[in-house]
Amino acid sequence: MPFILCGLMAAALVFSCTEKHPEPVEKPDVEETPSPEPEPEPEPEPEITPMLDIVFNADGSARDVSGNDYRVNTYEGLSLLTWDNPSYDGKMARFCHMPGADIPDSYYKFYYQNETKFKQKMSDGYSLEAIVMLDAVPDGAAEIKAFCSTEQGGTGIMVASSSQGKELTFLTNVSADGSSKWVWGKTGIVPERGRYYHIIGVWDKDNNQARVYVDGELKKTVQTTGSFNFPKSAACHWFCVGADPAPSSVRTAWRGDVAMARVYDEALTTEWVAEHWKKLNVNIPKATYLPENVMYMTTCNIQAGGKYTIAGKGFESSDELLIESIDGSYNAGCWCTAEESRTTADLPKNITDGKYKLFMRRGSELYPVGIAKFTVTDQANTLTAPKIIAHRGYHKNNVPENSIEALAKAQEYGYDGSEVDVWITTDGILVCNHDGTLAGKKIQDCAYAQVKDLTLGNGEKLPTFEAMLEQLATSDATRLVLEFKSHSTVERNNAAVDAALAMIAGKNIGHMIDYIAFDYDICKRIAAALPEAEVGYLNGDKAPADLYADGIMCIDYSYGNLNSHPNWIQEAHDLGMKVNVWTINNDNDLMIWMGKGVDYITTDNPDRLKIMIETFCEVTSPDEAL
Ligand code: MG
Repeated sequence: MPFILCGLMAAALVFSCTEKHPEPVEKPDVEETPSPEPEPEPEPEPEITPMLDIVFNADGSARDVSGNDYRVNTYEGLSLLTWDNPSYDGKMARFCHMPGADIPDSYYKFYYQNETKFKQKMSDGYSLEAIVMLDAVPDGAAEIKAFCSTEQGGTGIMVASSSQGKELTFLTNVSADGSSKWVWGKTGIVPERGRYYHIIGVWDKDNNQARVYVDGELKKTVQTTGSFNFPKSAACHWFCVGADPAPSSVRTAWRGDVAMARVYDEALTTEWVAEHWKKLNVNIPKATYLPENVMYMTTCNIQAGGKYTIAGKGFESSDELLIESIDGSYNAGCWCTAEESRTTADLPKNITDGKYKLFMRRGSELYPVGIAKFTVTDQANTLTAPKIIAHRGYHKNNVPENSIEALAKAQEYGYDGSEVDVWITTDGILVCNHDGTLAGKKIQDCAYAQVKDLTLGNGEKLPTFEAMLEQLATSDATRLVLEFKSHSTVERNNAAVDAALAMIAGKNIGHMIDYIAFDYDICKRIAAALPEAEVGYLNGDKAPADLYADGIMCIDYSYGNLNSHPNWIQEAHDLGMKVNVWTINNDNDLMIWMGKGVDYITTDNPDRLKIMIETFCEVTSPDEAL
């Protein structure tokens, strides 16, 4: 198996100096004149330096080089690596998260809750500076945060969601009365995938302004009076590089690079920023090697000298996969065979267990894929393909959840199931909506006439269950996973179940429907009425054997419930029952649950799961491993 041993250093561009030095010129003879008394040098302006200046280390950690020696904690994970972009003088941090996702790890934290001086210095005006690159086209669904400390207060550098135009933004929170009031320093720039932006955001208390600069240029000034509000919860008094703090999680993750993350005590002026930009001289070119939709097996068994597949579009067979151990002591370049939606590398024969940075390389350009944890075995990894359940239908790209369009899209894309939530009105009409209240109207307390004209984001009226069934009947590609919501009384629950089952029987479409509910009596009622139907219980508090005794043949539990009871998957399978897990959205988590052998995964990202199944389950099927 051919492979090339090479260091990443070799991948770095070597610039040769071609500038010619001028020839020395003979000095003409001139008469010496007495030199005048030297003017006293003007007192130099004190140099402005950051009070926090985060740089990234080769081992993936980060440190503060401001001189204040603030501690920067690294929450390592498989979605964070540091790397040498050949065109940048210094290490960059690459975050490989799904844009805008909640994340368990792979970020940096500077905790300032107890840094009284730091906080005082921010309180009278401050500036943030960062170099960021978004490795995604912002879809507007969520905020995407590069360097932030925001939670009902605070500040940061981010890409806004649709409601604020998906723009690269400096956000600060300033008010005269202590209430949370966001000041949007919008740059007018929707970041281009792969382009690096230098951004400075300033809160200038003395001049009652917030200003934002991109590449040295003033982009926006917002008038704002009052005082800066730190995040409301003290638990969120930290700056995150790669995401944003929340009281009990880390959220709105970045995908792409952060090459600089600084906080200044001063409100930097327009003149200073322009001068600084000139001196900074970081005209980083746009990355041109940007494969799309890259997904890889983060944790898996491999065979030394075997194959390893990365999903994505835009690969060529001349690209190489570079594998580098975290400490840099091992690296290898692997030949790849590219296909339309993936590339498969020939792994080196001398690879051993461990964590590795993965890069795709084309010529002198690198594309960081992420970190993978390999275990070398005789058997390739086995991932079982779960059935794909689109949570509330396919509701990406402005398709509203629980709409007829959301089911139609799920059918078009060929997902196994499309979930829908159902309520009954006071006059017995079944309608589809997740929340109990829509546009201020509590559905179960309304007659149908009171809610029928409420519209969804795509212009559809609130869908009836009957209309949903009519859409279901147009295709046999996708089953409907019907969730009965819990109404205020048993009678209303029973009315909803009975009305739905009668309608389904009338349309002769029961073979296309599975049933789920949090209410155990609803599950029992359906199982009693339809012994052949697959009924799943959602509430997560009963062992598989208990459900089995009542004829409920699916545990449809949250990942939290299943993590608390890891034996339940096997117990359910031993009883001939099915297992569905919800709601799994991140690439990493989808892969983890595929590895656990569940039968169904309910996800808001059915498109990602489908690509994963097509890429990884086929390649690593037992037949191919033979
Ligand atoms: Mg539901």
